[in-house]
Amino acid sequence: MVEISRTKWSTDFSKWFRDVISQAEVYDYRYPVKGVGVWPPYGMKIRNNVITLMKRLLDESGHEEVLFPMLIPEDLLRKEAEHIAKFEEEVFWVTHGGKRPLERRLALRPTSETAIMAMFKLWIKDHTDLPLKVYQIVNVFRYETKATHPMIRVREVTTFKEAHTAHATFEDAERQVKEAVEIYKRFFDELCIPYMISLRPEWDKFAGAVYSIAFDTLLPDGRALQIGTVHHLGQNFAKAFEVTYLKPDGTHEYVYTTSYGISERVIAALIAIHGDDHGLVLPPHVAPIQIVIVPIPYKGVEKEVYKTCEEVYKELLKHGFRVVYDKREDITPGEKYYYWELKGVPIRIEIGPRNLKENTATISRRDTLDRKDIPLDRLIYELKKLMDDIKQSLYDRAWKWLRSRVGIVEDIEQAKDIVTKRQGVAVVPWCGSESCGLEIEERTEGRVLGVPLDEKYDVKGRRCIICGREAKHMIRVCKTY
Ligand SMILES: [Zn+2]
Repeated sequence: MVEISRTKWSTDFSKWFRDVISQAEVYDYRYPVKGVGVWPPYGMKIRNNVITLMKRLLDESGHEEVLFPMLIPEDLLRKEAEHIAKFEEEVFWVTHGGKRPLERRLALRPTSETAIMAMFKLWIKDHTDLPLKVYQIVNVFRYETKATHPMIRVREVTTFKEAHTAHATFEDAERQVKEAVEIYKRFFDELCIPYMISLRPEWDKFAGAVYSIAFDTLLPDGRALQIGTVHHLGQNFAKAFEVTYLKPDGTHEYVYTTSYGISERVIAALIAIHGDDHGLVLPPHVAPIQIVIVPIPYKGVEKEVYKTCEEVYKELLKHGFRVVYDKREDITPGEKYYYWELKGVPIRIEIGPRNLKENTATISRRDTLDRKDIPLDRLIYELKKLMDDIKQSLYDRAWKWLRSRVGIVEDIEQAKDIVTKRQGVAVVPWCGSESCGLEIEERTEGRVLGVPLDEKYDVKGRRCIICGREAKHMIRVCKTY
C-alpha cells in the first residue's frame, strides 16, 4: 500500500483540497485540457447521491426534467444584449464541421437561458400553460481566464443543475424565486452545508436579471464560495425572444421568467467544509459507503472472526445500509483504518477476539473518531441512530464555524482586518450607493456578497462606513473564490 503524506486541513487548506480529492479518488484533475477534470467511480457515486437529492426536491415541487442541446447558435445567444455582453469573453465556439467553416458559429452553452427561451416561445400559448417549470442537469462551458481550480473554477462545469420557469405575472415569478430559495435551503441543510443568502448588488447580478439572490458558503481559508444562485429575469428575456401568452381577456402579454442554478461547487463545499486532517468526512446519507467492516483476526480464532463479520455484513445489507466488508489479507487492520478514513466512510465496525467473547462489535465514527462497543443484538438500532447523530453533529459543527467567522463592524479598518487577517466575513452599514459599495471592496480588499436576506440586522442609527450618510442596509464583504 502506498504511504500518503497527509496535508493538514487546518493549516494548508488549498493544498489539502487538491491532495484529498485526488487521494480519495473523488476528482482527477490530470486530464490534458486546462480547467477540466474527470469523475472516477468513487467521486461519481458521491456526485450521483447529491444529484438524486436535488432531483427529489425539484420533482416534489412540480419541476419537470428536460434535456436541451449543448449547441446554441450565435444569433440566439446574442438576442439578449446584457447577457451576451457578460458571456462574450467566456464562450467556447464551434466554428467548423470537419474541414468546412460553419455558416453560423455554434456556442457550447455557457448557460441555457437563450436555448430554453427559443423553445418556450413554441411551447407557451396561453395562460393555462403557465407557470412552466423545467430543469436539466448538464455540463456547461466557460472559458475562465482567471486561475483555474479543480471543481471550483473550471472550464467545463460537468454538473450544472439549471431550472427555468415562466409565469403570467411579475409577482408569480417572485413567488417562484422564494420557492427556489426554500428548495436550496433544504438542499444545503440536507448536505449540512452552512450558507449565507444575499441579494447580490446591482453591479454583480446575473447578466439580464432584474435581481439575483445568491447562496455563499465560507471555505476553511476564509474565502466565500458561491454555491447557488436564483435570478428574477422579469420580462427581459421574454421581450428579446418574443415569448408571449394569451390572457383570458384575449390580449397578449410577455411572460416573466426566472432561472436558478447549482453546480458541482456544492460537492467541493461538501468536501471542504466537513473534511479534517485525516481526509474526507461524508454525511452518511450521501456517502457512497456508509459502513466498513474490518475484521481483527487473531491466531486460532481467525475463522470465527471472519464468520461473525460475514454474518454482520449480510445483516447490514439486508437492512439497506451501503456497506463494505474489507477482507483484504495483504494489509493490516491499521492500514485499512487509514484507507477508509481518507475516503470519509462515516462508520467503521471492528470485530476481534474480545468482541467474540463479549458478543459485541466496536464502532468508530469518522466525524469525531470516537469508539465504543455495542452489543451485537442492538447493532442495527445503534447504527441507524448513529447515522442521524453524525448528520446532526456535522450540521451543528459547520454552522457554528461559519457563525464564528462573521463580525459586525462600523469601521473600515476593522472590516479590512476581518477580511484580510481573520479570514472572516465583515457585515458593515452601507448607504446603498454603488460608488460606496465599490470603495468598500477596494478598501477591505474583499468582495461585496450583498445585502443579507437570511439575517435581520438592525440598521437604525447606523452610518455608511464610507460616506457617513444614513445607512440603508448592512452588507457582507469578504474574500471570494
Ligand atoms: Zn455611502
